[in-house]
Amino acid sequence: MPATVGHAAVSAPSPIPLPARSWSYALLDRADVRVPVYEEGDRVDLSRIGPAAIEHYSPEHGSGWLHKSGPSQRDLARWLFGLLVIAPGHFDRHPEHAVEARALFRSFVLADDFPRRSQRIRGQTATAIRRRKDLAHQTRKHREHLQEALRVGLERRLGTMLGGDENTWIAFAAREIAVPGIRVCEQCSLVFQGRRTARRCRDCNRAPVAPKVRPAELGGWHVDVRVGGAWFTGEFERTITYLAICQGCGRRFSDDDARSRNCENCRSDAGRKRRQRESEATTGRRELAYVSALDGGPLQSVGVTGPDGQTINLEAVDGVVRTTDLEFARQLDANRNLRRTDG
Ligand SMILES: [Zn+2]
Ligand SMILES: [Zn+2]
Repeated sequence: MPATVGHAAVSAPSPIPLPARSWSYALLDRADVRVPVYEEGDRVDLSRIGPAAIEHYSPEHGSGWLHKSGPSQRDLARWLFGLLVIAPGHFDRHPEHAVEARALFRSFVLADDFPRRSQRIRGQTATAIRRRKDLAHQTRKHREHLQEALRVGLERRLGTMLGGDENTWIAFAAREIAVPGIRVCEQCSLVFQGRRTARRCRDCNRAPVAPKVRPAELGGWHVDVRVGGAWFTGEFERTITYLAICQGCGRRFSDDDARSRNCENCRSDAGRKRRQRESEATTGRRELAYVSALDGGPLQSVGVTGPDGQTINLEAVDGVVRTTDLEFARQLDANRNLRRTDG
């Protein structure tokens, strides 16, 4: 995965392999769990489970993060007891389900808060050491609780795909909670029995899907890729759909062939001629560069809002953030902490 964004365009970047889903075991290993705190910053917010930030490479915008929001109590109840919990009045008939989901929710929050809390117990007095030990013990209990809940939910789903419960699974996995002997396939999300290091189910091992993109941000034509159908149907389709920018007319199109650089129109003779005429007038995409306008250290990175409202982190190289994306440039122009530079 490239570490920078906005390289000068090259004619045909080498293909970059992408994971089939928004997560893979490798990505989850590097995931970062955020702990929500109240504004004063000294107390954890017990009403929310922090999101998991997962590295994400966009062929259009480069490297950034996906924030998978933490599960709600209802999500956790569904994980533990299945879909029946969404029936109206379910928790009135089964208050014990609500109690269990609430306890699990609490274990998530308190386990996440452990590093922060233990850091705040300072010193080597007997009391401090005992308090740290107590805290570590409680945290271990909370994490055992998470592991038990993960086991219950996975056993319930053996032989099926995660579907709407995928984000709940991610919440466990991003916290390095695992259940010996039960795995989730990182290609199709099937829950299966497998050894501790298994990453894919048997079918996916036999017929792995491996999307490889020529990223638009590196001068290629792909802006996105999708594995499987557009909606979850309970079946896993081993198809790859590439979303690309037509190198002839600039419109977006999708194709199952990674080599397609042109939309249907431009593939015709007329399109080819028109493209030729227009290319003489094209100047290419301009690269814009930004540095910090503040006195502090060099710029590390800056967040921008992507096309679907998600936050994308543009990383600086030697204190300079570069982009060829005009929409990002518009946002960076509006950022008073930055200024444009020619370098
Ligand atoms: Zn699979
Ligand atoms: Zn076209």
